[in-house]
Amino acid sequence: MAISTVNPATGEEIKTFDALGDEEIDRKLQLAAETFREYKKTSFADRSRWLTRAAEILEEEAEELGRIMTLEMGKTLASAIGEANKCARGCRYYAENAEKMLADEQIKLEGARTFVRYQPIGPVLAVMPWNFPFWQVFRFAAPALMAGNVGLLKHASNVPQCALAIEDIIHRAGFPEGAFQTLLISSGQVQAVIDDPRVRAATLTGSEPAGRQVASEAGGNIKKTVLELGGSDPFIVMPSADLDKAISNAVTSRTLNNGQSCINAKRIILHEEIAEDFTRRYVEGMAALEVGDPMSENTDMGPLATPQILDDVSGQVDKSVEAGARVLTGGKKGDGPGNFYPPTVLTDIPEGSPAYREEIFGPVASLFRVRNIDEAIALANDSDFGLSSSAWTNDSAEQDRFIDELEAGMTYINRMTESTPEIPFGGAKNSGYGRELSHFGIHEFMNPKTVWVD
Ligand code: NDP
Repeated sequence: MAISTVNPATGEEIKTFDALGDEEIDRKLQLAAETFREYKKTSFADRSRWLTRAAEILEEEAEELGRIMTLEMGKTLASAIGEANKCARGCRYYAENAEKMLADEQIKLEGARTFVRYQPIGPVLAVMPWNFPFWQVFRFAAPALMAGNVGLLKHASNVPQCALAIEDIIHRAGFPEGAFQTLLISSGQVQAVIDDPRVRAATLTGSEPAGRQVASEAGGNIKKTVLELGGSDPFIVMPSADLDKAISNAVTSRTLNNGQSCINAKRIILHEEIAEDFTRRYVEGMAALEVGDPMSENTDMGPLATPQILDDVSGQVDKSVEAGARVLTGGKKGDGPGNFYPPTVLTDIPEGSPAYREEIFGPVASLFRVRNIDEAIALANDSDFGLSSSAWTNDSAEQDRFIDELEAGMTYINRMTESTPEIPFGGAKNSGYGRELSHFGIHEFMNPKTVWVD
């Protein structure tokens, strides 16, 4: 795939970039390694000052940065501006808390002085996706930089201007040049970067195949990875739930980011007592969304990010319908320019069809009906993925069962899933391993050195 900016709302190619050659990559890796040797000695106070400045830049320039995101991947401008501001919150959170999180951990051992000291490990490669082109990167970069590691970003090929803007913000904030560098490279060039001894670890957010590839390569080199892969999150509604709130959250959670978020509620599992009422009002809510120019403030949902994603989503829906699924709204891609796909609701979904089994990375909700909580949990867990889950019930015994029995990295009760700096984020099963954000995230790429002083 060419490294280029193509407006997903019009199909117009705006700008293309050449991939770095081997020599340029080598120069950047050398700079990262050399910078790390000095950067790891900088104080928390300095790092915190630079990261706070990065937060200020993100806030001051939120609209301009938002326009780059919208131009390159099609999310609405309002949500893109929100994303820049959220990155600022992430930076401030780690600027304020990293020193406490990484303080020596004293260990009580009779007659000995023992403790753990957290030490940075070196340059970490971040392979990142286009869907939250700033947030996915900052939720890696903010803790990594506070920890004394240095970052190398291989961003998705359709968001090169976002990648360059992020590098620029971090440099303008005061961090040394080699502390964070963007590598404009294709996915085929990633393997050699992972193999390079100067790179110490890798993190990837994206699809399962990309995760497998990067983790295998890193594993062969005995390098640690964190993987945040796809999800097909269940959203379960039981009879005692506040239905109004559940319906509006189910609409938002399926269509947020034009339906392209790993934690979108993708499988809506309804108890039969409320299924009919929920379905009617949910379909109305989905059909009422305004789809169009993502730069316009009246738009709820813009286009999908690339023609490939549009083909994938539309193919998955067509195959599910051929297998017997029924379309309650949407289901047909637009024929104008741009990668537009309408909010879509499917029901009567046969087991084995794409809408039952696969992640659909677009605004397509799969509705299921169950007779009781046992069936709800069994259906929710009948997935290779296990990222997040959302369950709606005011019965505390049911809440406990969902918390205990849903096979997922996260369970939200009476709330849709969100990612926020204070709370750990990550999956189980094929959705990946390791955690981002909170104190869990900052400890992933550290050497927890055991110290025993006699
Ligand atoms: P990919 O997983 O292909 O891309 C994510 C990142 O990984 C990009 O930087 C990409 O680079 C890179 N990459 C892809 N393949 C490899 C590889 N073999 N080795 C190293 N790096 C690689 O996602 P897509 O954009 O193609 O989307 C496809 C599907 O992935 C979606 O439909 C969705 O299911 C899932 N996805 C999940 C996301 C999440 O948040 N969990 C985010 C995005 C996608 P390049 O762009 O150059 O190929």
